Amino acid sequence: MTDLRVCHLYPEQLNIYADRGNIAVLERRCGWRGIGIVVQPCGVGDPLPDADLYYLGGGQDRDQLLIAPDLAGLSADLAAALAGGATVLGVCGGYQLLGHVYRDRDGGELRGTGLVDLETTAGERRMIGNIAFTCELGGESTVVVGFENHGGRTVLGPGVEPLGRVVHGNGNNGEDGGEGVRSGRLIGTYVHGPLLPKNPVLVDHLIRLALERRHGTVTLEPLDDALELRAHDAALAIAAK
Ligand code: GLN
Repeated sequence: MTDLRVCHLYPEQLNIYADRGNIAVLERRCGWRGIGIVVQPCGVGDPLPDADLYYLGGGQDRDQLLIAPDLAGLSADLAAALAGGATVLGVCGGYQLLGHVYRDRDGGELRGTGLVDLETTAGERRMIGNIAFTCELGGESTVVVGFENHGGRTVLGPGVEPLGRVVHGNGNNGEDGGEGVRSGRLIGTYVHGPLLPKNPVLVDHLIRLALERRHGTVTLEPLDDALELRAHDAALAIAAK
């Protein structure tokens, strides 16, 4: 039986703007296809469990402060998991900690996992609003929509690819037009909302990537996404205003 193992890192601390909803979407879209799914939380002090997909939500600076030292301690295990074919998804505050460092507005530094070459520095003005960006996923072009709210400005290292190009909103830093990061099976984004309900192309891409670790190439049965696409288009229209 095809099944998906998901590890939800720090669900108590990294869960703002409905980020927990991303887990519910993974559970539903797997369940509707008869794909088993197990979601294992991993909190402060817990060893990193074996999983196909590691998920980190967003968090205010104080939340990131609570978990960053513990997460940094899991860097080697996460790097080994990635090298072993696992997929990593980080949203906003979780995304920022996939890089080397997050510098808050007071100059405080939180060490990240260093899984991808990027750095984030908080600026004066928060970047808040509806966002849309173009993105290429598994050979399919799509526009990802959602909501952003971050003080951090993320700068990708040389040769590091953004996940997409901003159409509406700020994205990584409001200047270079990039949104998020994609490095192998590691994906980071500033998009909350939550991210996945209104973006069926992205969530299915993640499910396929994650299933490949133990099941090889998997073809997902198509679902009736009429409702998801109506919500998507409504969010895109709002972002375009
Ligand atoms: N605390 C980080 C920032 O302000 C991330 C915020 C978030 O996850 N929404 O940039």
